[in-house]
Amino acid sequence: MSDCGKLIVVSGPSGAGKSTVISRVMEQDKSVVFSVSATTRKPREGERDGADYYFIDTERFQKMIDNGELLEYARYVDNFYGTPKAPVEENLAKGLSVLFDIEVQGAMQIRDKCPEAILIFVIPSKFSEIEKRLHARGTDSEEKILQRIRTARIEYSMALNYDYIVLNDDPDTAANEIKSIITAEKCKTANRQKYLSEVC
Ligand code: 5GP
Repeated sequence: MSDCGKLIVVSGPSGAGKSTVISRVMEQDKSVVFSVSATTRKPREGERDGADYYFIDTERFQKMIDNGELLEYARYVDNFYGTPKAPVEENLAKGLSVLFDIEVQGAMQIRDKCPEAILIFVIPSKFSEIEKRLHARGTDSEEKILQRIRTARIEYSMALNYDYIVLNDDPDTAANEIKSIITAEKCKTANRQKYLSEVC
């Protein structure tokens, strides 16, 4: 089991700076593949279909649910988000780890289905930073921002269900914390047992 891929779930409120941290981890650890989610949300400027998300309509999303194509899904603010199951299975079969950027309801669904998944919650050290970043992004209306801030407070209350909390005041430091968690998990005795078998 030593070099089997892991499921790494990264959550954190909108505005926690997760995406930047995740892209640094992906750049530096080639054994980790990003799980591209499907969403009914409209693309933001610069987002690419198939790389950031699969941007689909509600009808197609519902079909994916009905066909059992999603590992998990949730409604977040006004849209649906879900994880296509097939690529996760394919990557795990290749021995790669899969990293998910998903919100808390989806994270709990993955934990129920795959108890060995590693759950990481990313936040800045001060909540006010979330509000500041959401306003600075300038992509959402004031109403949407307030909705995201309310949702963020609910998400904070779920953090105790996670295995790790990574602080993101600086993306490089936060990315290093995530990489250290992945390394430590790979080194667990249960995962390295095969190296003992020659002797024991
Ligand atoms: P955003 O609209 O800012 O890209 O994402 C909103 C929230 O949806 C984020 O917290 C993000 O982690 C979450 N999210 C993205 N993809 C998925 C997914 O496949 N499933 C679930 N449950 N949440 C997702």
